[in-house]
Amino acid sequence: MNASRFIYNQLLAHSRTDSLIIKNKLDQQFPIPEQYWRYNKKGQVIKKSTKRPTGLDRITTKQYPWLGDEDLDSDMFTNMKVHYQNAWNMFRKVHSAGIPKFKRKDRPVQSYSTSSHYSTKTVKNNGGVFSLYNGSIKFLDGSHIQLPKVGRIKVKLHRALPTNRLVRIATITIKHYATGDWTVSLLLKSDKPFHQALPKTHQTVGIDLNTDNFLTTSEAAVTANPRYYCTIKKRLAKAQRVLSRRERRAKKEHRSLRKSRNYQKQRGLVAKIHAQVRCQRQNFLHGRATTLIKNHDLVVAENLKSKNMLRNHALAMSISDVGWRTFLSMLEDKAPLYGRLFVEVNPAYTTQTCHDCGFVMGSADTKRLTLRDREWTCPACHVHHIRDHNAAQNILTKGQQWLQSGKYLAAIYG
Ligand SMILES: [Zn+2]
Repeated sequence: MNASRFIYNQLLAHSRTDSLIIKNKLDQQFPIPEQYWRYNKKGQVIKKSTKRPTGLDRITTKQYPWLGDEDLDSDMFTNMKVHYQNAWNMFRKVHSAGIPKFKRKDRPVQSYSTSSHYSTKTVKNNGGVFSLYNGSIKFLDGSHIQLPKVGRIKVKLHRALPTNRLVRIATITIKHYATGDWTVSLLLKSDKPFHQALPKTHQTVGIDLNTDNFLTTSEAAVTANPRYYCTIKKRLAKAQRVLSRRERRAKKEHRSLRKSRNYQKQRGLVAKIHAQVRCQRQNFLHGRATTLIKNHDLVVAENLKSKNMLRNHALAMSISDVGWRTFLSMLEDKAPLYGRLFVEVNPAYTTQTCHDCGFVMGSADTKRLTLRDREWTCPACHVHHIRDHNAAQNILTKGQQWLQSGKYLAAIYG
């Protein structure tokens, strides 16, 4: 892990210095190797090539002998380069992601990745097809996994291994958390998709995200807000008070925080409470998203980006607490897995419009509904509405209209 962080940081450091130092200096630091030079018939140099070792080639074991250690996994180097390139791609494509940053040694999560290799001979002798059990990374049984350089380790499976024989291991990532936990995550590959498209349900649903509950569907089902932070707030606050007390004491006695054992112990506890909340919330979001996707052919939600809500500070806080953004991206990811459709629509006027007659509140001398109006009666057609349910129905209609419009067909057929 230390080595992998080092590689990443070196790659990044080179990219930063390259853009800063002038070419002459670069020649001094990373001279062009002589094998790239070209000579004329008399043996004189005609052209010094402009080729220069880049990327991984610059981080040599000559310079850093400890990188040649036999216990280090060579695949880790290439995997780190991929991670590094991904970080730059993220920066170029997604403007919200900043330029790659240096990884610190005291980061709460430390990790490294490596790949599985399959040798023709071992595969032939063990079943004849690539599987979870015959690569350089392999499962020995249900609770043990063999890793290159690390050896045999005991694992607890969080989900059943696929029984499909054609599944193979591509890459694994090993992580060490501030809580002291270790995880191994596997990226599996298969020629067949892991999820099968489900039969059509002929059901459609619109969902309205709001602050009083987690969501309301157009079928008038309400999911309450899981306020995990609220339930453990006291415990967390107490643990954090102890933590800062220990920090103050260590500073007073001029001890370094890294060496004060009581401080580190408490830090682990605080991290554990945070991790618990995170897991509970993820679990809740995954469960809710999967149910929605599995039971409906079409799921329509509002596009959070265009919601004015984020400008309101108090609401922005609660958005980040309940994790709608994560929820919407889960829906987006899960829909194609099961052969479903997920659509996001602009939520403008979905709350203010009467679903039955299309009257818009705020027009013709009526007052706009405020956040406090939970229920209302349409002044035009006198239908009584529950605000969120009405909004969810409008969101569904908007999604269906969009699907029938030319824009969607153009998006599909180009
Ligand atoms: Zn109406």
